[in-house]
Amino acid sequence: MRCPHCGNFDDKVIESRTLAGGEAIRRRRECNGCGYRFTSYERIEDKQFMVVKKDSRREPFDRAKIERGVQRALEKRPVSQMNIESLINEIEDAAAILGKGNHEIDAKALGDLVLEKLAALDKVAYIRFASVYRHFENLDEFVSEIQKMGGKSSRKGKKS
Ligand SMILES: [Zn+2]
Repeated sequence: MRCPHCGNFDDKVIESRTLAGGEAIRRRRECNGCGYRFTSYERIEDKQFMVVKKDSRREPFDRAKIERGVQRALEKRPVSQMNIESLINEIEDAAAILGKGNHEIDAKALGDLVLEKLAALDKVAYIRFASVYRHFENLDEFVSEIQKMGGKSSRKGKKS
């Protein structure tokens, strides 16, 4: 597959896994040119897993989006890339189990899942994610908001 980072067509599969429910196979790939890691899916065409937003619109489940949010929350935290990857895998698998019946999951349930998994991995990242996420309707808004925050660790002194 073509590397989304450098355009190289030479990659190797580093992990291949059947998702819970068996509707899809996920492959983690590593570009032999630049080392960039990306994910490909093989699935039955008419059964794409969807995320249902609060306004009832649906969008395809996007692993990369979750990964961006989690990466941001974990910025400068002592958590290895491997742990992050397995965290994302756990989130994805749990989402697939939750949404098994109709191949979709509520955006809120997905966000809660991310929170739950982050809490188990890193408390600081959990608080970062939670403090921002709770104010938003969905992961899109969260990701753009946390990107605005950048790497700053300063917080507004808001008491609840
Ligand atoms: Zn590459």
